[in-house]
Amino acid sequence: LFVTFEGGEGAGKSTQIRRLAESLRARGHDVLLTREPGGSPGAEAVRHVLLSGAAEAFGTRMEAILFAAARNDHVEEVIRPALMTGKVVLCDRFMDSSRVYQGVTGNLESEFIEALQRVAVNGIVPDCTLVFDLPALAGLERARRRGAAGDVAPDRFEKEELETHEKRREAFLDIAAREPDRCHVIDATRSEEVIAAEVLETVWRQLPH
Ligand code: C5P
Repeated sequence: LFVTFEGGEGAGKSTQIRRLAESLRARGHDVLLTREPGGSPGAEAVRHVLLSGAAEAFGTRMEAILFAAARNDHVEEVIRPALMTGKVVLCDRFMDSSRVYQGVTGNLESEFIEALQRVAVNGIVPDCTLVFDLPALAGLERARRRGAAGDVAPDRFEKEELETHEKRREAFLDIAAREPDRCHVIDATRSEEVIAAEVLETVWRQLPH
């Protein structure tokens, strides 16, 4: 089973994906926890460049192609092999982040983004996508606090304006509305415990028993 976690910054994806991995392992599942951009040695090297100042020199198209290159490496080196051996793969961000960040707020045509995704995922589409939904201001504030606390370094993307965050929120909700069988919207304003229970219940239903 391939499960992806999507949504804007500060929605609690990373905390929840760790909790889900622990819960599934405690129930005897073999779980691979991974993230994008990154997840394989080659893709982590590309992540380093994409989240650094060097990326300021890239146009949005080049950036989108680099994200796709990293995704393809991650899929072929890590995700596909894990799925082949029956693992539950949990991935923090995947193709929907490209649709939203590079496509919608990067102003790239959806045909271009979709063509890149076809090449990048090469048939490995998530069975289940959890879309963490939070009002833009709340997410931005949480992400900023996290950066200020020194937990995770604020990256160049998090300096962008509130308006952009609101656009992204709408774009993630649009994807979820268009693909209701794959996507489940998670109201991320609730407590960590309540969200963890809903996440586990949603994924548990899809696992073969
Ligand atoms: O998941 P996390 O927030 O740590 O992701 C790192 C950053 O990479 C995000 O803040 C997001 O702005 C950016 N990103 C992106 N396009 C993607 C995936 C992530 O711009 N396809």
